[in-house]
Amino acid sequence: MKLELSRVVQGCRLGVLTGLGRAGQHSLEVPGCLLYTRCGSVPHLTQDTLHTLKNLPSVTQLTLDTLAEHQEVLEEFKEGAGKFAGLHDTVLYCSLHDPATSSPTGHITNKTVSVWGSGGRIALSVAKFMALQKAVRPDLYHSMADGETWPGNVSRKRVRKSVDRTLAHLDECLLLHHRTQELAGVEVLGVVEGGDVLEERVRSARETAKRPVGGFCLDGFHSAAMDQNLRTQLIATTVKELPEDKPRLLQGVGRPDHVLSCVEVGVDLFEGFFPFQVTERGCALIFAFDIATDPEAAGTGPQAPPTARCVPEAPVDSRIVGELDDDKPEADVVENNGPGYQEDQTKMTPFEINLKDKRYRDDFGPLVEGCGCYCCRNHQRAYLHHLLMTNELLAGVLLMLHNTAHYCAFFTALRVALASDRLEHLKKRVLMGQARG
Ligand SMILES: [Zn+2]
Repeated sequence: MKLELSRVVQGCRLGVLTGLGRAGQHSLEVPGCLLYTRCGSVPHLTQDTLHTLKNLPSVTQLTLDTLAEHQEVLEEFKEGAGKFAGLHDTVLYCSLHDPATSSPTGHITNKTVSVWGSGGRIALSVAKFMALQKAVRPDLYHSMADGETWPGNVSRKRVRKSVDRTLAHLDECLLLHHRTQELAGVEVLGVVEGGDVLEERVRSARETAKRPVGGFCLDGFHSAAMDQNLRTQLIATTVKELPEDKPRLLQGVGRPDHVLSCVEVGVDLFEGFFPFQVTERGCALIFAFDIATDPEAAGTGPQAPPTARCVPEAPVDSRIVGELDDDKPEADVVENNGPGYQEDQTKMTPFEINLKDKRYRDDFGPLVEGCGCYCCRNHQRAYLHHLLMTNELLAGVLLMLHNTAHYCAFFTALRVALASDRLEHLKKRVLMGQARG
């Protein structure tokens, strides 16, 4: 795996990740996103339906949350999760947690982390984690990590421990990785932790970069865990400790405005879960990213729905970076079955419309005028409204098709904007949140 950067514009890295896959035949353009799946399949879509879309990401994300309970079956199958799930020719990336689902927190020890499948909690030691990787057979995966360090919930001491544990897990993973024949040629991403403690972020990045990893996974920056301004400040400092020639994947961030801010501080890759979350709340992505038109003129369009305005970010968290309360009790194996750190997934963002709203009952236009996806070419907003109101499964299929197409097209537009020095133009278009239809 090799990252070839063609240019860096305002901190944004434009390039291509080459040599992906066991035979090195795949590549992925950056900035870019991964293809989100659950247990190996894109929710709502068959492989045939999915592949009616163009420009899909060449890397598919699998998660141990959904695969861990199938370990025995995968071991018996012997040909990996990609073939088990009938995936077409794609690069497989395996991560620990499902970015679209919140998990109960507090089930972490010095030696284990927990994932949650449909049958409940599964504790993973490094040995079990690596046995799973051997059974799943991804092309790349990130090492086991202790990432429960979101602001306001843990002490500085706990954050330090998460960095120490994550580095220890990485060393153990690498040791087992090199002893496992089935994982020959597979890339390992090192996980950077450190919560909102700047010096711990720097230490985590610096130490991880010393290890023989193929790239870096930035954890603990999830949308609900951290204010966007604090996130970008921390990432900007953290990535200075990372080598330029290895990719940086940011976990848990998917909103287009957050993506743009993070790309500007040097993030290369994002998990592609956002279109799925939008689909699950019965919504369609409609934000504009077409930079062929004048953004100022476009802003006066009469048809922009009220939900498509960009809501200003909350003011910067008043917490001073690096000054956490050391006196808080350490929470290691605390039984905490709360909702975790994920944001409320039913909450709409300014980049979508809610098709359940009765205003769409007689709206006979497509979701997005000019979109080439099957849904927009064949159906109207009114029909989607009807499908949602009558709980038809086809609603999820059509929305997932469109939302996936729209999100992938946004990343394509971002790369085009970077290549043609029109990033500011694109940002205006996206942040003004004007609908095209
Ligand atoms: Zn569409």
